Parts: sequence; structure tokens; C-alpha cells
Amino acid sequence: MIRLEHLSKTYSGRTGTHQALRGIDLHIEAGDVFGIIGQSGAGKSTLVRCINLLERPTEGRVLIDGKDVTAYRGKELAKLRESIGMIFQNFSLFQQRTVLRNVMFPLELRHTNKREAESRALELLKLVGLADKGDRYPVQLSGGQQQRVAIARALANNPKIMLCDEATSALDTMTTHAILNLLRDINRELGVTMVVITHSLSVAQQVCNKVAVLDEGIIVEQGATAEVFGNP
Ligand code: ADP
Ligand code: ADP
Repeated sequence: MIRLEHLSKTYSGRTGTHQALRGIDLHIEAGDVFGIIGQSGAGKSTLVRCINLLERPTEGRVLIDGKDVTAYRGKELAKLRESIGMIFQNFSLFQQRTVLRNVMFPLELRHTNKREAESRALELLKLVGLADKGDRYPVQLSGGQQQRVAIARALANNPKIMLCDEATSALDTMTTHAILNLLRDINRELGVTMVVITHSLSVAQQVCNKVAVLDEGIIVEQGATAEVFGNP
């Protein structure tokens, strides 16, 4: 479903260049909950941002469903991004919009008619357990609830892939557990392939069936989670 071939990314700045990714080869299959783990600065965010082309790789190719998307621009790129949901550590909700209107946002971008968008957004809020919070504003919700809203918004376009960038790093242990269970349900019930970036081994162990360990832009280990970490 997602294939990265010899992917490299070099950032150039005033102080010189930095090679954030060095020849990454990775295959994420449909239905995987695939963990990308590594310490801060390892290149995890860069890697995931190359999948939806928020970053352009310096070298190598990104294939989605067998299609080389590396050079996509304009309409093709917009369409690709619609098929990939993304959630972040800081939730990135629109603070001036209600919960319902946050979830409607991706549908409004596509000019879905308002009633249809509203009923779809309500359905998604129900799915994440927030059916009664549509008229609240993000600031009125807990961190875990805000991340549920972000998950509902990420699902609005029926994505095949969801990218989760440190999605539980701002949450306490209990809330993290609940959010990871929700992500796993979405993977199983809606068949959404998940890429989970985390610096936490315990998060990876709880939710990922496969993991790749990234260190200074290189994959140093990858495979089934139980094999990489050893059975407890
Ligand atoms: P991680 O997500 O594992 O913390 P990142 O992908 O964010 O790692 O960063 C990998 C390396 O690339 C780091 O050394 C970081 O400082 C550098 N880097 C990331 N984004 C940029 C950028 N836009 N410009 C320059 N360097 C960057
Ligand atoms: P309203 O229609 O309620 O005024 P807006 O569509 O203007 O809401 O957006 C609400 C907030 O979200 C604003 O702070 C705006 O800057 C921000 N925002 C709107 N569109 C985007 C976008 N595509 N990316 C990031 N932030 C956005």
C-alpha cells in the first residue's frame, strides 16, 4: 500500500546541510498498524511527511497503491492528500470553530452540501464517542477529547491511510490507552492502514503489528513488533 524506495531527504540551511533520511526502504501493507519509532531527531516526522508529500524527498520514490506519487502536484496531489488523514501531538484543531464544524472542515473544502456534511460529521463524532459535544469549542474539551475530534476530522474524507505523528505524546497514560484502542478499532473496523510515529516503545507495543526503528535517518531494525522487541 505504501512503499518507500531509497528515500533520502537533505535539509539545507544557513549553517549547512543536514541529511534527515538516508536511503530508506520500507513497505507498509494494507491493514498494517505500522510503528515508526526512534528518538527525537531520528527523522520520523520527515519520513511521515514524505508519505503525503508535505516534504519532497531529495532522492528516491514514494509509491501509494503501486503508483509513483513522488512528483504529484496540483489536483493530483490534493486528491492524494484527501485519501490520507493525519493527526498530531497538539491536535491542531481550529479554535474558533465548534467541534462539529471542525469535523465538517475537510468536507467544506470539497464543497460537500451543508446538510450532508453535517450528518457525516455527526456520524463521525458518534464513532469517536463525542456525539453530545458537537456544539462545544475545543478549549472546552480535555486533551483526549480534542484528539478524538482530530481523529473524526481526519476520517471525514474516508481515508485509506492515517498518519499519526506522536498523537498520544501530550496525553496521560489512561487517555493514551483509550486513544490507542480507538485507533486500533478504526484500523480493524474501517480497514484504515495506520502509520504511527512514536518515541515510546510502550505505545508501539500496544498498538503496532509491525515496527521500524529509525536512528539518524537510517532504519536499523524492522519487522513484526513481537520479533523486534522480543516476547515478554
Ligand atoms: P523526529 O521526528 O524523529 O524528531 P525530524 O524528522 O523532525 O525527526 O527531524 C530529523 C532531523 O532533521 C533533525 O535533526 C531536525 O533538526 C532536522 N530537520 C527537520 N525539519 C527540518 C527543516 N525544516 N529544516 C532543517 N532541518 C530540519
Ligand atoms: P470561520 O469560518 O468560523 O471563521 P475559518 O474557516 O476562518 O472559521 O477558520 C477558523 C480558524 O482556522 C482560523 O483561526 C483560521 O486561521 C484557521 N484555518 C482556516 N483554514 C485553515 C487551514 N487550511 N489551515 C490551517 N488553519 C486554517
